[in-house]
Amino acid sequence: MPSQTLTIALAGNPNSGKTTIFNAITGTRQKVGNWPGVTVEKKEGTVARDGFTLRIVDLPGTYSLTPFSIEEIVSRDFVLDSRPDVVIDIIDASNLERSLYLATQLRELDCKVLFALNMADMARSRGIKINADKLSKLLAVPVVFTVGNKNEGIDALLERAVELARADLPPSTRRRVKYNKDIEAAIQRLVAHIESQNGGNLLYDPRWTAIKLLEDDRIIKERLARSAGDRGKQILELADRERHILMDRFDEDPEIIMTDERYGFIAGIMKEICTTSSRQRIDVSRNIDRVLTNRFVGFPIFLLFIWIMFQVTFTAGDYPVRWIESVFGMLSAALGQVLPSGLFKDFLINGVIAGVGSVAVFFPNILILFFFIALLEDTGYMARAAFLMDKIMHLIGLHGKSFIPMLMGFGCNVPAIMSARALESEKDRILTILITPFMSCSAKLPVYIILAGAFFGPQAGSVIFSIYLLGILLSIATGRLMRSTLLRGADAPFVMELPPYRVPMLKSLLIHMWDRGKIFLRKMSGIILIGSTVIWILSAFPQEIHRPPADRPAQAAAALQAKGHPGAADTGTSTAPESYLGQLGKLLEPAFRPMGIDWRGGVALLSGFAAKEIVVSTLGVLYAAESNNNALQSALRRSSMTPLSALSMMIFVLLYVPCLSTVAAIRRETGSTRWMLFSIFYSTGLAWVVSFCVYQGGRLIGYL
Ligand code: GDP
Ligand code: MG
Repeated sequence: MPSQTLTIALAGNPNSGKTTIFNAITGTRQKVGNWPGVTVEKKEGTVARDGFTLRIVDLPGTYSLTPFSIEEIVSRDFVLDSRPDVVIDIIDASNLERSLYLATQLRELDCKVLFALNMADMARSRGIKINADKLSKLLAVPVVFTVGNKNEGIDALLERAVELARADLPPSTRRRVKYNKDIEAAIQRLVAHIESQNGGNLLYDPRWTAIKLLEDDRIIKERLARSAGDRGKQILELADRERHILMDRFDEDPEIIMTDERYGFIAGIMKEICTTSSRQRIDVSRNIDRVLTNRFVGFPIFLLFIWIMFQVTFTAGDYPVRWIESVFGMLSAALGQVLPSGLFKDFLINGVIAGVGSVAVFFPNILILFFFIALLEDTGYMARAAFLMDKIMHLIGLHGKSFIPMLMGFGCNVPAIMSARALESEKDRILTILITPFMSCSAKLPVYIILAGAFFGPQAGSVIFSIYLLGILLSIATGRLMRSTLLRGADAPFVMELPPYRVPMLKSLLIHMWDRGKIFLRKMSGIILIGSTVIWILSAFPQEIHRPPADRPAQAAAALQAKGHPGAADTGTSTAPESYLGQLGKLLEPAFRPMGIDWRGGVALLSGFAAKEIVVSTLGVLYAAESNNNALQSALRRSSMTPLSALSMMIFVLLYVPCLSTVAAIRRETGSTRWMLFSIFYSTGLAWVVSFCVYQGGRLIGYL
């Protein structure tokens, strides 16, 4: 009975020991010829094993699989067209980093790959320790150590090869290089188009085809044009458009960017699996990394960057904020002149403008913050920050990779929580999702700016920075707690890409900044307008006769005084406590008073569940601050609030229940209502406890 034949191809860099291993496997049973049409030598041999006939093919040595050299084309075509059952990538373990480039490219192809870490003896003698287990997990590829010229490991290699060939599983599509989001988005669009046009029925795997088209691979383009006719032409046109978008975005050919990112991926693998630094290619990125990811100075530098970010966000934002303020001030003054007195006027000035205006003025701050986040991402520093955090994150049983969703949380928690999808292990994902909301999002920034600005003067920037820091610390503490209770387990291995540093393009920074800034503007005309309206209605009714605002403070203060309220000294406030809102506030007061937050603060915090900016717009309406945040700040200063209660309120805002969209995102991404409820109660509980301790503790030591 003729046995089944399995084809096994040997790929690898020149001088990695392919021929040596080929000879060790096949002995004398080999034939030497040429690859069809070219003068590249082709060696083939057969050997019987485990009831199979193994056909071993020695591919030409290559460093990559680009369509530029004949050896690379021959190797790639063999894998693509002859579809060997297994491709063994012979990796020179003493030159690991260089070898991994081909390995990552093979990994992108639709074939089963097995790594032989050859020259294991050389690596050992040079003191290079390679964590093969981790390499295997990181790339989802089996790994065998071999010493070709001493015949070591060859038997195990064949055994694994046969095992892999017989396994029914298709090659894993996970654990491949992931490109930056612009490129991934282009790939996605191309793949979607390919799949909708051809039902995915092209010559090659859709994702791989998309990648090659973005790289302008001439061979793949030709084949597509030939085999797919008109549909092929459409795909090529779309690919061309996508290439132009990317070129415009990066000012560089996409293939260069993608090569860089593969090296980034490899650099990440190297950092994870290799303990001795036997790195020959010392380039600029690496030198910068020596400092920025240094064990001792890296972390302080990271903190310094973040501190600068908030300092600039706070101080540089101040000027444009004033301009916007004065525009709103003029608008409300003009409306005051033009409109007849009455409810409508009150609604426009004390509801809409006071509410929306008090948030809208922070648009410049928000844009500056987003600009910095884009800068962190586009320069490649974000990945380093994650890398720096790796050790700390491992303390809580998470990979540094989880820090990227967390950092993105500084912008907005919703995409941050969605980006946790990149984590494969469910527990890691849930844990990351649970701790991300403690990363203070940009919507909370207006609250801090108002409160810190009102009560901490020149220290405002540093106070805001400390609030953010507290968020990071508590998220880590929460992670640690969860890991030892509800979400026990170890972190899954993951490659952290360390893309080369790039000088960011201003245009790309501005686009990324604007993409996020738009969302803030949309909120302005949506949820914040609605929130302000609701708050205004609740604060203006029930009222038989509409009192002019000027009369209200005195009445409010008097009413409060009569009840022995701690806010009795209130002046400059405008919402009567007998309004619906006032009644609601009274109801809530016992919960908030221990944290030093009065009923207005309580109402503002409650309304903040819809969106965090609403905390500010509610305060704006409650103090009817005519959209002028200086006015709101001075109203706050004149209220019963102290620096200590402002601090307590900021901490509460930092920690308490995330906004509605974030809660919905948590529900969606964890697929569990229970985790959502857990997150709501845990965060609110923690917020209460911490704010309580800060406020009461502060009072005890008589600070502030
Ligand atoms: P190819 O270019 O990939 O076909 O590489 P060769 O098989 O021709 O090997 C290149 C050189 O490396 C030869 O001198 C081999 O004897 C040597 N070699 C192969 N495998 C090993 C190994 O595991 N350890 C050491 N020290 N040398 C090896
Ligand atoms: Mg050879």
